[in-house]
Amino acid sequence: MLKRFINLEEISSDSPLHVKTKVPAKFVNLPEEEGKAVSDFDLEITIFKAGSGYDIVGRYKGIIKATCARCGSEFEKPIKGEFHYTLMPISAAGKGGDISNEDMDVKFSNEKVLDLHEVLREQILLNLPSKMLCPKCPEDNGFISYVEEDI
Ligand SMILES: [Zn+2]
Repeated sequence: MLKRFINLEEISSDSPLHVKTKVPAKFVNLPEEEGKAVSDFDLEITIFKAGSGYDIVGRYKGIIKATCARCGSEFEKPIKGEFHYTLMPISAAGKGGDISNEDMDVKFSNEKVLDLHEVLREQILLNLPSKMLCPKCPEDNGFISYVEEDI
């Protein structure tokens, strides 16, 4: 069975939880304008209990079908990403006391159950480029011609 829900209260500070699972394409459920998952997604996640919250580290990969922002053609694009954030109870918001690394992303939630499908969807959306370009429309196309070298 594929793991979807994680009960955070079962994780103790001396035994982090490691899950390696797959999220079937139909459950990735991206907003239509962002693209559509066309493969099952691999998801690997490790959750550490850290103070009053949790440290969450993971990575994913899969294939989405997107529409090119330049030429409008549909294309398939393998995507993958890594993430690391801290989940803190809402009561910790604004106190800042527990947060030692300011560069780290912090998410506030009182949920005791983590939905891995939700986590995956969020992370994909955070990491998608704002403009999806197909392989025939390279990002820097038209840029290089404007660059003049100083001699
Ligand atoms: Zn294109």
